[in-house]
Amino acid sequence: MAAVPKNKRSKSKRDMKRNSYKLNILEVVECPRCRAKKVAHRVCTACGYYDNKEIIKFKEKGKEKGKEKGQAAAKTKAKAGQKPKETVAVSESKEPS
Ligand SMILES: [Zn+2]
Repeated sequence: MAAVPKNKRSKSKRDMKRNSYKLNILEVVECPRCRAKKVAHRVCTACGYYDNKEIIKFKEKGKEKGKEKGQAAAKTKAKAGQKPKETVAVSESKEPS
C-alpha cells in the first residue's frame, strides 16, 4: 500500500510551496572589470575574469562574446583532432616502407 498523506494540504500551504519555484532564475549583474552583463558568482564570459583573477585566457581582446566562445571551442577541437591524425599518418607511412 502506497504512502498516503494524512491531511489535505491547504491552498495556502500549496501556494506557499509553489511560490519558491520561481526563485531559480539566474541573477545577472554587471562585471566589475569590463562592465559587461554576466551571471552572478560565475566567470565573466566577456573578459574571463573572476575575483580579479584571470580564469579564461583569450588571445585577442574582443568585445563579442559569441565569437570568443566559438574560437576557443574550435581551437580545442582542432588540437584534439590534430594529434590522432599525425599519429595515424606516421603509422601509415611506416607500414609500406
Ligand atoms: Zn568582465
